[in-house]
Amino acid sequence: MNEPPALRHPAVEVALDRRPLVPADIERIIKAIEDRFDEQVEFLQQLVRAASVRGNEAGVQKIVSNALENRGYDVRSFAIDPARIGKDPAFSPTRFDLKNSTIVVGSKQSTREGGRSLALNAHVDVVPVGTSARWRYEPFSATRDGEWLYGRGAGDMKAGLTANLFALDALSTAGFELKGAVQFQSVIEEETTGNGAAMVLAEGFRADAVLIPEPTDEKVVSANTGVMKFAITVQGVPAHPFEVAAGRSAIDIAIRTIEHLRQLEQEWIAEQPIAQPDFAGVDNPIALTIGTISGGEWLASVPSECRFEGRIGFYPGEMAEARAVRFESFLREAFLNDPQLKGCPEPEIEWVGVKQGGYVLAAGNEAEALLAKAHSLAASSERELQRFVMPCYLDAAVFALHGDMTSLVYGPVAENIHAIDERVSLPSLLRVTKAIALFAAAWCGIQARAEQV
Ligand SMILES: [Zn+2]
Repeated sequence: MNEPPALRHPAVEVALDRRPLVPADIERIIKAIEDRFDEQVEFLQQLVRAASVRGNEAGVQKIVSNALENRGYDVRSFAIDPARIGKDPAFSPTRFDLKNSTIVVGSKQSTREGGRSLALNAHVDVVPVGTSARWRYEPFSATRDGEWLYGRGAGDMKAGLTANLFALDALSTAGFELKGAVQFQSVIEEETTGNGAAMVLAEGFRADAVLIPEPTDEKVVSANTGVMKFAITVQGVPAHPFEVAAGRSAIDIAIRTIEHLRQLEQEWIAEQPIAQPDFAGVDNPIALTIGTISGGEWLASVPSECRFEGRIGFYPGEMAEARAVRFESFLREAFLNDPQLKGCPEPEIEWVGVKQGGYVLAAGNEAEALLAKAHSLAASSERELQRFVMPCYLDAAVFALHGDMTSLVYGPVAENIHAIDERVSLPSLLRVTKAIALFAAAWCGIQARAEQV
């Protein structure tokens, strides 16, 4: 006989002894956020100015850890342990040396009992700016222009990080203490491997829910796709043009291999359309992308080697390792059966970045219901919280799949993320900060601080 399944979130099952948020509480919390919003924007500018492309996150993490220490958090900084890569399934492959970059987690225990715990997470790594001269303002100048703040990382996702910080501040300023423990997580590596989030789990940080304010236009992510990044090297037979028939072009082999991968993409798009209703409106959730290609040694020789890199998505419901085996066996079969590829050496397949499954936020979960209320209260008029799917990698997948945590991704309106003139809407950031504060209050439960009782 099977054992009964363990409760996924035991803390959710206990009586919470929470009093509902009353209008006077809500007003105090909202006012506390509005009173310090200029300070919050200045803090965001500081974070954007600490340019934190991969490997250069130390400066911004210092600002974050100082801010947490000043607020009385129990702060820990730790690096990604490279020994876990290839052993712990939460980690993705990488050879990038990150010894100078750390993850920062600030924790606050609660002196009360009966509440649920919450992790507020954000990543500080940003993608490169491209050509600075094409930006309206210097990408790391963090220029405020009307209702927008410009800069690389402003939207993705340093604004969200400030929302987490100032939301928790406001609860305290308004005279409340959360009844559950909170963690403030500032991670690295979201844009490349997800190993920052994986390391947070490896260090033992867990909570009953995690909220990540990525720039989602004030909607909540209902599901994302798994993502795998690969590099494929194919070998040809080099030859001089006068005996071209004796050669086999590695570039032609690469092109043929990519054609096969396009077929695989179609097969994966067609999988389980009924079981994945969330993805019904997404054109191509699998999104095979070949991002780089290089091959050949000499303009007038048949090329001997060609390498290309790319990414492919897959629907949630399967771990990345199993899906990677299917990808590899598909290519092996193609090289065995396609007359144009027969006899070529097997392609070399390397996994070179994020390799992670997707997650689904189960409809009807309590965390989302409370977030929906907070989302509505944060605006001047009633509004519904919309769900949408992200056909790309999110750190939320690491927490959902490997930490068994309810994972919410919900954050401000931003434009041009990963592009030129990235900017975040400040009125939206204000609303999101309010929503996060009210959600934390409702999720963890609040009580007037002891000295105020
Ligand atoms: Zn992001």
